Amino acid sequence: MPSEQDGDVQSILQQDMPIAADRDDNGKKVQLRYSPLAWLSSLSSVGFGSKTFDNADWSSWFCQVIGMPLPALVPVRDRICACGRHHFDAHGDHVHTCKKYTRNRYDAHQILLKALQSICQRAGYVATIRNIPESRGQRRADLFIKDIQLAGMQDLVVDVSIIHEFHGDVLQDVRRNGTLCNPDPSSPAPLDSKAKQKVLAYRDDYRRPDRSDRPKAFLPAIMATSGRIQGEMLRLLFIISHRQAEDYFDRLGDDPSNAAFTTRRAIYHTHNRACIGLACAQAVASRAYLPSLPLQRRPLPPPPQGDLDFLPIPSSSSQDT
Ligand SMILES: [Zn+2]
Repeated sequence: MPSEQDGDVQSILQQDMPIAADRDDNGKKVQLRYSPLAWLSSLSSVGFGSKTFDNADWSSWFCQVIGMPLPALVPVRDRICACGRHHFDAHGDHVHTCKKYTRNRYDAHQILLKALQSICQRAGYVATIRNIPESRGQRRADLFIKDIQLAGMQDLVVDVSIIHEFHGDVLQDVRRNGTLCNPDPSSPAPLDSKAKQKVLAYRDDYRRPDRSDRPKAFLPAIMATSGRIQGEMLRLLFIISHRQAEDYFDRLGDDPSNAAFTTRRAIYHTHNRACIGLACAQAVASRAYLPSLPLQRRPLPPPPQGDLDFLPIPSSSSQDT
């Protein structure tokens, strides 16, 4: 899915992209790409195991992604939801959108948030999810990253969100439930729309010059239950990976060749992509869960881990990942 689109008016990170002016062999501008399932090829780099993603969660996520009925929801299919508005569907569209299941969405949100925090911390940044500075409107985003130097500002605040791209709680015309919110499944519009909503809610308030503390850049970090990622979050992951590679060669005191640098950057990006891909899958599985089912509610899985020293060398050093 091409995620870096021309005309993305909300982007504050394009100016920081290290490949902004790069061209491929045909003179075409290099674009970042993100395949929602590509992280599966590097699961071993993030300590994947049954403790972090057991069989029931794996089944829920995989069936969700390929459009199959979710085994956890099949037993309650056609039963009336506690909201009294709709029957459950086995594809999870109602559970993903019903207000009765906000706890599920909170759990999912925390999984993705902690994974992003972990990525930032492993890159050497001070990243916190408690005591986040308030915006002028007395609202708090989710993650504060100190001294990251992005978008012309020293600090960054991030707000995380996971959207569902199918209708599941439409009352006016119930036939729309189960259909795509946007008729073009490849369109970034649903992700961009959520990002824009976040930007309107937070960005100006965090950078107001009349604040007593220093202004902060604001970034939305949006993913979808399909595993898709919004452009700004992908750019953030890539910029962090690029800086990790720079730090790596600085520590070595080495002046790498272009090939050596892009290979090292791809190692970090592959790892970060696996962290966020796995976290998104865990989050989706935790959303497709009914407390009324005779299942043990499991504690939140830990953020993905992994030792970069043991990362596999990716087969390609291209930026297209
Ligand atoms: Zn409901």
